[in-house]
Amino acid sequence: MQPIPYATQSISEDDLRAVNEVLTSGWLTQGPSGPRFEQAFAQRHGVAHAVAVSNATAGLHIACLALGAGPGNTVWTSPNSFVASANCALYCGADVDFVDIDPVTRNMSVAALSAKLEQADRDGRLPAIVIPVHFSGLPCDLTPMRALADRYGFKLLEDASHAVGASYEGQPIGSRYAHASVFSFHPVKIITTGEGGIVVTQDAALARRLQLLRSHGITRTPGEMVLEGPMPGPWYYEQATLGFNYRLTDIQSALGWSQLQKLEIFHSARERLADRYDQLLAGLPLKLPARAPSASATARSSWHLYVIEVLQGDGVASRETVFKRLWDANIAVNVHYIPIHTQPFYRARGFRPGQFPAAEAYYAGAISIPLYPTLTDDQQDYVVAELKKVLQA
Ligand SMILES: *Cc1c(COP(=O)(O)O)cnc(C)c1O
Repeated sequence: MQPIPYATQSISEDDLRAVNEVLTSGWLTQGPSGPRFEQAFAQRHGVAHAVAVSNATAGLHIACLALGAGPGNTVWTSPNSFVASANCALYCGADVDFVDIDPVTRNMSVAALSAKLEQADRDGRLPAIVIPVHFSGLPCDLTPMRALADRYGFKLLEDASHAVGASYEGQPIGSRYAHASVFSFHPVKIITTGEGGIVVTQDAALARRLQLLRSHGITRTPGEMVLEGPMPGPWYYEQATLGFNYRLTDIQSALGWSQLQKLEIFHSARERLADRYDQLLAGLPLKLPARAPSASATARSSWHLYVIEVLQGDGVASRETVFKRLWDANIAVNVHYIPIHTQPFYRARGFRPGQFPAAEAYYAGAISIPLYPTLTDDQQDYVVAELKKVLQA
C-alpha cells in the first residue's frame, strides 16, 4: 500500500489537455501561455501585476533585489519557515535576521516585530525589508505590520508560498498590505506547475523591474533603451542590468492556468477536511491550528498544512514517538519547520539555539498530518484513529 502523504498534487484530465495543447502549439516558452496565466492569477488575487517565475525561491530573490536588498542592509523574516525565506536576502548580499513567532498563530509575532523595530531604530539598524510568512496558509496580522512598515520605512514582502487563495479581512493575500508577495507552485502547495512561482504587486514600475530581472536584465522596449540614438534594427536589445533566467515555461503556465480554474474546489475540500480534523481531534493532548491572525482580525486560511503540536506532559507520547508510530502505520507525516536560525549554515553566521524560543518550542511538538483535496474521509479517519492509539496508549 502507498503511504498516505502529508501533501500531494491534484492533477486531472483538464490539466492533461491544457499541457497537451501547449506542447503542440509552437510555443514551449515565452509564448502566450505565460501572460494568460499571469493575468488570471492577478485577477483572482485582486492585484494589478503578476510576474511568473521558475520557482518561489527565484521570486523571493528578485523581489528582494527589486525592493532594495543589498550589501549594507538587512532583511528580517520568520524563523518558522523554509530556508528560502532567509536565503533570498543573502543572495542579494544583504544580512538576515529573524523575528520570533506568536505561539498561537505560528506566524511572525507583531509584538516581537514592534519591539525589535524600536530597538533597531535606537541602534540605527532598521531593516530594509521584512518578510512575514503566512505559515500553513493562515495569513499574518497584516494591518499592524503595514502600519509598522509605513512608520519605520521598510518594505513588506509577503512569503505567500503557502497562501494561494487565502484572504485577510476579506481581501485576497497579495492585494492590499504588502509591497510585493511571492507564491509557490511546488507540488505540495495549493496549486502546482511542477516547479514554479509568481510575484505579485500593485506597483507597475516594480513589476517591470521584476520582469527584467527574470529575463537576463534584457529589454527590447524602445522607450527603455539606455544607449542614445536610433535603434539599429528590429533584432536589437539591450542589457542594462544583471538579471537571471528565472522564467516559467509555457508548459508550466498552461498547467498553472488550468489548476487555477479549480482553486475554489481545492480550497473548499481543504477547508472541509480541516474542520473535520478540528472536530475529530478535539480533546486529545494536542494543540490545533489557530483560525484567525489575531484576536481582532479575520482571515480565510488556504489550509496548505494542518499542523498539530504534541503537548509534552506526564504519560503523553513524545513528538518523536507519535511521528514514528504514524510512519509505521504508513502515514507519511512531516515536520514544518526546523527553525532556520538553528541550521548549521546559520549557526556559522552567528545564530544559535535559544535566540527565538517561541519558534523552537513550537518546533519541538510540531507534526504536519495529511491534508490535500483528494484525501478521503476514510483515510482521514484512519489517521485520526492511529493518532488516538498512540496518544491514548
Ligand atoms: C515552498 C516554499 C518556498 C520555496 O518555494 P519553491 O517554489 O520551492 O522555490 C519558500 N518559502 C516557503 C515558506 C515555502 O513553503
